[in-house]
Amino acid sequence: MTLQRTLSILKPDATRRNLTGKINAVIETAGLRIVAQKRIWLSLAQAQQFYAVHESRAFFNDLCQSMIAGPIVVQVLEGTDAVSKYRETMGATNPENATAGTIRKEFAESIEANSVHGSDSEENAAIEIAFFFSHIEIVG
Ligand code: ADP
Ligand code: MG
Repeated sequence: MTLQRTLSILKPDATRRNLTGKINAVIETAGLRIVAQKRIWLSLAQAQQFYAVHESRAFFNDLCQSMIAGPIVVQVLEGTDAVSKYRETMGATNPENATAGTIRKEFAESIEANSVHGSDSEENAAIEIAFFFSHIEIVG
């Protein structure tokens, strides 16, 4: 049980359908605090840099295009075991495999348009948070 921070993104399919408040309610109900948040629109170069770890995957181009199809909301979430807690709250990558009550089960349209991103480790959380936020933008 450790206090952690993780990086969350509400993806373009979520902003397009005006779901940011509904998703934030699920996040807060799970006990995670939104300690930083901003709405931005990524360039293709920025999306490619953020997802560089997936560069060799067949879905890389589609993934980057879907992330620049509209605005996103980037957030820092804080809480006990925030990295794994948010992964549980998001649900499986493919919403068809996600558990009832998870964000992806309730809101995702497909494996591509799956509404949210969450860091997959504490190490990556630190890298991803630093990609979007400076120290003074995070208010715990
Ligand atoms: P997660 O977002 O659950 O951590 P990954 O890191 O494996 O999943 O993949 C990043 C994103 O790429 C996913 O959220 C999803 O939008 C997309 N993606 C993953 N696998 C596929 C796939 N097989 N086909 C299309 N898009 C995919
Ligand atoms: Mg991932």
